[in-house]
Amino acid sequence: KQVSREWKQETTIVEIAPGVRFGGSEVPIIAGPCSVENEQQIVTAARQVKAAGAVALRGGAFKPRSSPYSFQGMGLEGLKLLKLAKQETGLPIVTEAMDEAGAELVAEYADMIQIGARNMQNYSLLKTAGKLKKPVLLKRGMAATIQDLLLSAEYLLAEGNPNVVLCERGLRSFDTASRNLFDLTAIPVVQQLSHLPIVADPSHGTGRRDKVLPMSRAAIAAGADGILIEVHPQPEKAMSDGAQSQTPAQFAETVVQLKRVAEAIGRRI
Ligand code: PEP
Ligand code: MN
Repeated sequence: KQVSREWKQETTIVEIAPGVRFGGSEVPIIAGPCSVENEQQIVTAARQVKAAGAVALRGGAFKPRSSPYSFQGMGLEGLKLLKLAKQETGLPIVTEAMDEAGAELVAEYADMIQIGARNMQNYSLLKTAGKLKKPVLLKRGMAATIQDLLLSAEYLLAEGNPNVVLCERGLRSFDTASRNLFDLTAIPVVQQLSHLPIVADPSHGTGRRDKVLPMSRAAIAAGADGILIEVHPQPEKAMSDGAQSQTPAQFAETVVQLKRVAEAIGRRI
């Protein structure tokens, strides 16, 4: 299979914007709110995460919510606000596409298309994203094995898109102490089996903002090729995932600490 290390020995480097590369000695940090909520929120968040050291801005315009009554995202309006935030800060954009029609629209605005945990096995979406050739952030399903994740990545590669970054975001478990069970082991396991870079998402992985710093340190130490962290200018007012969103001050402190961990293993934030 094309996804395997046997097929390709050297780690794939995925560049989403000039100098923002996953899979090399740098460890890029993607940060921003769970959802795009309004102009002020996303532009403020973009400035704050950039000032702290993030090199890409995240924010969902199309949100896969467990309940149909929860905020579903701003849609196209949200994509336009992400474009504005990019113009204001220069940060490349990572944002989710939920279906085939949405993927083409998202591709016009995003530098990297996120395929979320719930859609990891949406094979028609994977085929569409594979044809689009844009970098893809493919998140592991909450009940998917590492083999399932790699086979989903294979759909993208098989369509001719080599720009795939995997993401560990935590698994369903019996324990309610954290939102998900963050599978740190997935990082070295994926790196052994595949040449694709893998980033860690300790925000969804833990569901608690006070656990994001220790688990992001651990993820860097384990060799993650990037980190995704949810940050909101006012987490208590967030329309989604407020409990796991760091404050801008917490995020700034996180980046300071992550730089030290990265340096200790010969990598750079
Ligand atoms: C998100 O990144 O906000 C998100 C919905 O992630 P996941 O698909 O991992 O739940
Ligand atoms: Mn979220």
